[in-house]
Amino acid sequence: MTSRSRERSRENIHRTLQNAMTVRQLIERLEDLDQDAPVLFACNYGDYHNTMQTLTIDDVDEMQSTDIAESAYSHSGLALIDDNEDAGFYCPVCESERTTATCPKCNCRCVTEDGLPVEADDDDEVFMVVVIR
Ligand SMILES: [Zn+2]
Repeated sequence: MTSRSRERSRENIHRTLQNAMTVRQLIERLEDLDQDAPVLFACNYGDYHNTMQTLTIDDVDEMQSTDIAESAYSHSGLALIDDNEDAGFYCPVCESERTTATCPKCNCRCVTEDGLPVEADDDDEVFMVVVIR
């Protein structure tokens, strides 16, 4: 992936994330609801009939915005980086695919597919993202 297409990709991701509900907004909405009711997550299955599948929530993770990447295989257009084959970079410490030169989790330099160190890219704006699984 070229740096220009990587930049465009990050802009698309940021635009989508700006429309997402924040933790504060979610807590406000949940406060008035039955606190003992089971919670389901509903999402479009992406099939011809736009079936809405429901999923139980098993965990909540705090991640970095750079852990989210565009994915043509995802119905939403976004995917967690571990599932992204186009990441381009690889962190040798946490052994994860990355879109940034510096791993946001380990803060160490990533390598290319050829195992060469990637030049630092300080342009990436990184912020927290909460992922409900
Ligand atoms: Zn790492």
